[in-house]
Order: sequence, then C-alpha cells, then structure tokens
Amino acid sequence: MTSTPPPVPTGEPGPPPLPGADPAVPLEVTETLAANETVPHGEVGRSEDAAPLSAVCPTCGSQTFYAPGTMLLRCESCGSEREIAPTTDTIDELDFEEWLASNQHTTVAGVAGHELSCSQCGASCITTDLASACQFCGGALVAHDVPAGLVVPEAVIPFGVDGKEAREAFRTWVSSRWFAPNRLKKVGDTEALRGTYLPHWTFDAQTDSDYTGQRGDYYYTTETRTVSDGKGGTRTETYQQRHTAWRPAAGRVARFFDDVVVPGSHALDPAMVDKAGPWELSRAVPYQPEFLTGYSAVRYDVDPAAGSEQARQKMVEVIKDDVRRDIGGDEQRISTLGVIYTQATFKLMLMPLWIATYLYAGKTWQVMVNANTGEVVGRRPYSWVKITAAVVAAVLLLLVILVIWSSSSSG
Ligand SMILES: [Zn+2]
Ligand SMILES: [Zn+2]
Repeated sequence: MTSTPPPVPTGEPGPPPLPGADPAVPLEVTETLAANETVPHGEVGRSEDAAPLSAVCPTCGSQTFYAPGTMLLRCESCGSEREIAPTTDTIDELDFEEWLASNQHTTVAGVAGHELSCSQCGASCITTDLASACQFCGGALVAHDVPAGLVVPEAVIPFGVDGKEAREAFRTWVSSRWFAPNRLKKVGDTEALRGTYLPHWTFDAQTDSDYTGQRGDYYYTTETRTVSDGKGGTRTETYQQRHTAWRPAAGRVARFFDDVVVPGSHALDPAMVDKAGPWELSRAVPYQPEFLTGYSAVRYDVDPAAGSEQARQKMVEVIKDDVRRDIGGDEQRISTLGVIYTQATFKLMLMPLWIATYLYAGKTWQVMVNANTGEVVGRRPYSWVKITAAVVAAVLLLLVILVIWSSSSSG
C-alpha cells in the first residue's frame, strides 16, 4: 500500500491525552472516514440508518477496537465503551447470473485500491485492504465503501474469541505437538497474534441432476475346491463365491444447497483456511464496518465466477452420493451426470481469524486460530535438536537394558 503522511499539525502535537483529560482533541478528522468522497460507492450500499462509529475514543482520543463477543467498541487506553447500533439490514443473497451479466468484464485483479484515511492522525493510504492499521500511528483504517464492480461484504462473523483466549488455544495446541521447538512455544506468549477477517463466498443453488450408470447387486454361487485334509491327503469342500450382477440405471435427483462456503482469498493458504472451518454461519450478522475496527481485513482475490466453480465442485460430490443412494444395490457406477443449477445466489462473508506468523530455520510458518470456534490449525516445524536428543536417549536406554539383560542371563 502507498501512504501519504499525516497532515502537518497546526498546533503543538503533544503527547496523547491521559484518560479523563480534557477531550479538546481535534476530533473533526473522524468525519473524513464517514464521508470519503474519493471512494466511489459500490452497487450495494449500506443502509443509511446509522453513520459508522468513529474509531477514535470520544473521551480520550485513543484508538478503539471491536471487543470480541460483544456489540461494543472499546477504547484501548481508557476502557470506555460505545455500543454499535444494531442495523436494520438483513443478510441478502445476490443473484449470481444477474451479477455475472452486469459485471462480465470486471475482475477483482483489475480494480485499483481505494483510499483510506486514518481517523487518528489524518494520514491516508491507497490499499486494497478493507481494514488495516495506519503506518504512522497504528490507528484503525476501515473502508466504509468499496470501489464499483466489487462485491460488498454482506455478512460478517464478528470475532468471538479474543486475543487472550486465542493465545490460550494456541498454547494448548503447541503443548500437544511433539518435538515443537521452544521458539514456537514462545509465539503464543508474545503479541505475535494478528486479528484478520478473511473473505469467503457462500453459494446457494437448486440442482436437478440427470444421471446414467449401473447398479451392481451381489449374488453368490456355491463352488467346490480341493484342500489338504491335514493327514497327507486331500478332501473337497464347498464355499460361497460372490459375484456382482450389473444392470443399467438412470434417473434424476434434486437437491437445494444452502450456503456452500469457499475461501475468497489466497492471502492465506486456502487449504489451511478450509481446515480452520467449519464456521458457525448462524453467528453471521449483517456487515457493519465497526466490526472491523482494530483488525485487518483483506479484499477478496477469488472472483465470484471462480468461487462458484469451486462451490459447484463441492456440490457435485454431494450429488454423486445422492445418485449412488438413488441407484441403490450393493455397488454403483456413475457414467454420466448432468447438473442443472437454478436459483443460484451468492454473498460475500468475512470470517475472523487470529494469525501467528514466525520465522524458524529460514522458513515462514503460520498458525491460525479460528476466532469463531477456537479451532487451531497450523504447520509447525520440528526441532531437530529435540528429536536427536530423544533418539540418543532412546538408544542409551536400549543399551542399558541390553547390558542389564546380558549380565543377568550370564550370571
Ligand atoms: Zn478512551
Ligand atoms: Zn494514523
């Protein structure tokens, strides 16, 4: 991201005010976030019922952040809280075909970044992130609109697990890892966890699928064979031989899919992100930028068409199970499967994650804590020092046992 330094202050900047101090801080900069003219409005606007809350504490001028598991913005220095007014918005789906038709030539890669202004120091930067921290003062930068052609987040699963609980979950995870280097254990003790919202697509569709294939039914025949009788001769025994009778099968199955979730970003390893799920979608609320205050949030980089492709692959796996059940019998073969998707809708949803990135042995390793469910996933290095020590200890133990055994058997 490119940044513009904060405007030169007219007065003496001075130290940040103490809690309870005179709130005569230049608070008017907070308005630049709410009414940023340089940012074109997206197609789907936010409801006008409430202007976004400023990320600056009205009491002391410090940064506020969304307090996990609440409907509050909390000040990091004086602790004062402000309630996020519940929105009258509902979580709505976008019509997929309609969206594709009107955004045929738009790819997210071709859409430039937008300008975000720091509500604390007034610096601005051009970024593709929906939320991040100001490079100059660490203040919260949150986008209140997204550029035209991009899908606006429709829903968000707010952070439910706070930083302390995430570290706890991380520590438990590390302590259950064999041969983890001490360095990894320290990651959970430091401030290395970053709170990030990651975009996901959810897709709905009615599917009607015609199939052809084969149904296999088992049947048995009685056969005879010659076996040894154990006394040097042979005898004849009978046994049941299994066979499969195949006959053609064809039919149609139907299923409605609701909220098939696929990652909307490659910023983090999608396989790992997928493993961090499933998400409790019932926790999703209509998107409000306040939930992003104090966290980072990346823009999606998987276009809806590509996301839909992935979602449909997931759907097809479920449909194949339906087809096998429909064919019946003991075994099934599917030769052709034609799926017709109708009523296809989708939406963009932000999911909360705590992420720890650290360097070990010249490589970057990542661990993530699902801030919705507390699930921890990660790749972890192995400490070769510890493994070598364990192997040496095992060999020594074996030697001791051998020495004791040989001396007791010879004595
Ligand atoms: Zn405060
Ligand atoms: Zn700033």
